[in-house]
Amino acid sequence: MKDFYVSHEKLAEIAKQYPTPFYLYDEKGIRENMERVKRAFAWNTGYREYFAVKATPNPYLLELMKDGSFGVDCSSLTELMLSDAVGFSGEQIMFSSNETPDEDFRFAHRLGATINLDDFTHIEILNRLCGIPETICCRYNPGGVFQASNAIMDNPGDAKYGFTRDQLFEGFRLLQQLGAKHFGIHAFLASNTTGNEYYPVLARQLFQLAVDLHRETGAHIAFVNLSGGVGVPYRPEQKPADILRIGKAVHKVYEEVLVPEGMGDVKLFTEMGRFMIAPYGCLVATAIREKHIYKEYIGLDACAANLMRPAMYGSYHRVTVSGKEDLPCDHKYDIVGGLCENNDKFAVDRMLPKISMGDFIVIHDTGAHGHAMGYNYNGKLRSAELLLKEDGSVKLIRRAETPADYFATLDYPGLPKL
Ligand SMILES: *Cc1c(COP(=O)(O)O)cnc(C)c1O
Repeated sequence: MKDFYVSHEKLAEIAKQYPTPFYLYDEKGIRENMERVKRAFAWNTGYREYFAVKATPNPYLLELMKDGSFGVDCSSLTELMLSDAVGFSGEQIMFSSNETPDEDFRFAHRLGATINLDDFTHIEILNRLCGIPETICCRYNPGGVFQASNAIMDNPGDAKYGFTRDQLFEGFRLLQQLGAKHFGIHAFLASNTTGNEYYPVLARQLFQLAVDLHRETGAHIAFVNLSGGVGVPYRPEQKPADILRIGKAVHKVYEEVLVPEGMGDVKLFTEMGRFMIAPYGCLVATAIREKHIYKEYIGLDACAANLMRPAMYGSYHRVTVSGKEDLPCDHKYDIVGGLCENNDKFAVDRMLPKISMGDFIVIHDTGAHGHAMGYNYNGKLRSAELLLKEDGSVKLIRRAETPADYFATLDYPGLPKL
């Protein structure tokens, strides 16, 4: 088994107290991965990982990040509120949002967060709302396609984010006039990259841009933020990204591009979400129905409202049948949820051991962008989140929704109240 695995006995014990479906996160795995990330970038004295809150917005998991001296990357008012509640403040918060409402800018400014502007027009808006802080960041979009070793990784020219190159130079000059003294540049140009080349290629572009911006505007470049995008091996044949090698390769580019320019004090930041938690979380559901028509279907007590990635992106997630990990995968199933949408399928034509009703079905690598994307379509309720602690105990870190939660925004006779 790769990464996070919980024995059938343990799952059965947990499910007695907390009925399925639930998300289960592995504290030990998360902490070990955090240490690897820190080691990978330890060569940069100002390095900080700002965990992307949107990936898994649970305060108990944010506490782990805080414990490891990580920061948080927020993109909305409520993510800022969550981070504030956990005790993040000032430069521990990066605010990388887009189409940002006034209220969000004001609150980020009040917390002293480092504001990462998504657009040239936001300079005037921020200035009007709260003034330009001494430290400010701008998000860059180079346009065109993003290529690493001749393969197209993504298409920034089609993405809504960031300043064009010209806008960035003009923006830095305007921000200087308005009082900014220390600058950051940020870009997120490819998502879920599984090779080791994404960060080094992006770093070379951003470091060179930092040099050009410094030369042309005289601005002090305080940091370069490589944002998120480091992927995880969802498919069994994929290899995990090697963060230590990635760190080394970024170091080499830093020495080649920034150090000769006398810019060896530039801090390196990252905003990984997926890489930090996805492999250390799983969705545990129970097989509750089976049907035999033109195909063999197994129906779960979880659905796309609990995990949207397969329905939304056609994403692959490894599926195992708890307690049957060593049995031959000699049955072909579609593993489905109960939404009235035919894309509500966690796995299609998947070879698995024979499944019996009541078996626990584990959907792996769902620790990030899993529960967070949950919704209530078809009146389905979001599941609980549990943390498997290092001492083997289990902590309920978010209870499951009840019908009263679903009806909470309605004031109507006969409906349950919270
Ligand atoms: C989503 C997002 C991240 C995290 O992305 P991952 O793919 O989870 O690493 C980081 N920064 C910004 C601005 C984002 O929108």
